[in-house]
Amino acid sequence: MVEVRDPLVEARRQLRRAIDLLGHPDYVYEVLAEPERVIQVKVPVRMDDGSVKVFMGWRSQHNSALGPYKGGVRYHPSVTMNEVIALSMWMTWKNSLAGLPYGGGKGGVRVNPKVLTPRQLEELSRRYFEAISDFVGIDQDIPAPDVYTDPQVMAWYFDEYSRIKRGYYTGVVTGKPPELGGLQARVVATGYGVAVAVREAAKKLLGGIEGKTVAVQGFGNVGYYTAKYLSEMGARVVAVSDSRGGIYSSKGLDPDEVLSVKRREGSVIHYPGAEKKMSPMDVLELDVDVLVPAAIEGVITEENAPRIKAKLVAEGANGPTTTEAEKILTERGVVVLPDILVNAGGVIMSHIEWVNNRMGGWITDEEALKKLEYKMTDNVSRVLGYWQKKLDTSKHPLRDAAYMIAVDRVVKAMKLRGLL
Ligand code: NAD
Repeated sequence: MVEVRDPLVEARRQLRRAIDLLGHPDYVYEVLAEPERVIQVKVPVRMDDGSVKVFMGWRSQHNSALGPYKGGVRYHPSVTMNEVIALSMWMTWKNSLAGLPYGGGKGGVRVNPKVLTPRQLEELSRRYFEAISDFVGIDQDIPAPDVYTDPQVMAWYFDEYSRIKRGYYTGVVTGKPPELGGLQARVVATGYGVAVAVREAAKKLLGGIEGKTVAVQGFGNVGYYTAKYLSEMGARVVAVSDSRGGIYSSKGLDPDEVLSVKRREGSVIHYPGAEKKMSPMDVLELDVDVLVPAAIEGVITEENAPRIKAKLVAEGANGPTTTEAEKILTERGVVVLPDILVNAGGVIMSHIEWVNNRMGGWITDEEALKKLEYKMTDNVSRVLGYWQKKLDTSKHPLRDAAYMIAVDRVVKAMKLRGLL
């Protein structure tokens, strides 16, 4: 029988651990284990044969102690309410850890967007946003792109909201096209953030990033930009992979050349300059200094964790390391930079976009990337400092420090507001 993991069970387990480590009473867990509000909506779309098809959608607003709810909307055929709630809880911790003035939210529509025509996708997007429009807003809840939603979908959300509310409310969503107040730098933000986080951690744990070898699993948005910026920072990216396979070159790969081959021929495996080809999973076990899983969740398990040779693992993807695997890695002295810390570049850039929209400003991409670099550098240093000062690093993964900082900030804000 295939085990189906309920992400909400996992999210609550992580919260429980943080609450216990912080020594907070049980009721604090009870309060934070539930979202403040979940909106369930029906999203009807007229199909091309004249019939109407109904899709289910949700927006989960987990916590607003630190600011308006913030988090993406995903369109996927397997979306469930529990998944959306779990993702909104993770956004609360990610935003809190990053030091942003945001709470946590997440949305989802159970639909396969690939089978919709552009007109149907627009109708679905507009109807979903109309249905939640009383609960979102610049100071209430600010959605953004996630799986299978993009700047065009954000443009429809913004337009629908602005028509309903009769104004020009660019700040109601982030990740918009540049013509509507978005930032071009959003595209590179997550990968750039991962690269900065790796560089900063390497300074403290590996004696610097220059000349260090790197393997990246997943050569999509996050993986490509992580590889590109790490190369520019002086690292040697020796291996990358996508869903079809991986490539290795001891001299180092040029991420731009690999990308042009992937664009032209569909996969990195067609890159002619590779010394070796391998399966997508083999890339994880290469003898490198830094490993960046940037594809999908659950790839580092208790089965392959004993064979991971990297000294530093940076979770570009969400949830690539299972709890059991992380225990093994920690015992072996491998440091895992957790997802809520290292892949927060996207939401940090979203915050910069939102602030710029609110001010009616014109920030440049260069300035925005500088701000992101500053924030990520500070965040990595804070989390590493807390971990080394407050915890036994041979027993506790860095994730424990990250969760303790994130949860405690929310708890303190709730106490100050009289909510706890
Ligand atoms: P993407 O679709 O652009 O890229 C995913 C890449 O992974 C593709 O190259 C695909 O071929 C590859 N892949 C899929 N299965 C694989 C496998 N088994 N082995 C090796 N490669 C495989 O997606 P993305 O936006 O880069 O997101 C990647 C991960 O990062 C996801 O977990 C996502 O949730 C997370 N993330 C993304 C952002 C963002 O801003 N894009 C922000 C935070 C977290």
